[in-house]
Amino acid sequence: MSATMLDGNAIATTIKAEVANQVSAFKTGGLVPGLAVVLVGEDPASQVYTRNKVRTCQALGIHSEHILLPVESSTEKLLAVVADLNGRDDIDGILIQLPLPKHIDSKQVLLAVDPDKDVDGFHPINVGRLSTIRPGLVPCTPAGVMEVLRRSAIPIEGQEVVVIGRSDIVGKPVAMLLTNANATVTICHSRTKDLPAVCRRADILIAAIGQVGMVTTEFVRPGATVIDVGINRVDDRATFDRLFASEPARWTEFEKKGNTLCGDVHPAVAQVAGALTPVPGGIGPLTIAMLMVNTLTAATRRRGQK
Ligand code: NDP
Repeated sequence: MSATMLDGNAIATTIKAEVANQVSAFKTGGLVPGLAVVLVGEDPASQVYTRNKVRTCQALGIHSEHILLPVESSTEKLLAVVADLNGRDDIDGILIQLPLPKHIDSKQVLLAVDPDKDVDGFHPINVGRLSTIRPGLVPCTPAGVMEVLRRSAIPIEGQEVVVIGRSDIVGKPVAMLLTNANATVTICHSRTKDLPAVCRRADILIAAIGQVGMVTTEFVRPGATVIDVGINRVDDRATFDRLFASEPARWTEFEKKGNTLCGDVHPAVAQVAGALTPVPGGIGPLTIAMLMVNTLTAATRRRGQK
């Protein structure tokens, strides 16, 4: 058996096209949705992520601002920037690129973002709205997982779902979204006993762990849907060989770049699962697409409030 690969790139492209259409309709009313992306410091990975977000906004007709602050900026400075963005009528979404430098109080900064502009969905007000099924802004990666399942016509209601990982960013919100969609959800973590046995109960298994190739075939009931949220960079040869010995295309990439991206799910799971999201090209592309959806949602709600 070989799993159907769920094409996150194609789903993200469709969602972005839908957003672009809705942005055009929004603009006919003379309004332009606006997103501010705030980056502190010059971490190369964060620079790539923020540039991609700004570029995607531009491609979809969303106004975007890239606010770059020096690495030595204080918590107070960042709070002042957030207060300014909260007060601006042309900015509907505020994204603080994480991680912030260690000397900055991240919790205080995230708490300062207006919940109605919190396009990351991390503010406790939005966490509360999600858990009580009220309209709010939902974290992008978990929302992307739901889109992949729904648009791939994978049943959710009444299904057994196991989520490995309980972070505020992925594990908990995805478990909440699935519970709200009437799945029966089990959340696992590093203290879970006999993890493979718990995971084998799942019709849908979601891995959000951050451990390269940890979910092996013994975790997966034959035919189950496996969603791999993990994004891990593999740059040592021994790990590469353990995971990708039978994938010549990967080898060419590894030789050229010196690394390759791998999820939390072992590639051999493709022989057991019914459907699987690849890494790269699975859940990853959905995160930016859902950020665009959230920005448009925030704009529509805010401007509609007037
Ligand atoms: P965190 O490190 O915040 O959380 C990891 C979770 O996995 C924790 O709950 C932890 O348990 C659990 N865990 C770790 N090791 C084990 C283990 N051996 N057995 C069982 N559970 C374990 O990570 P995130 O949630 O932020 O991210 C998870 C993965 O998703 C990462 O690879 C990250 O790069 C990726 N990611 C991808 C995104 C995308 O756009 N596709 C966006 C965000 C994240 P405990 O709580 O007990 O410590």
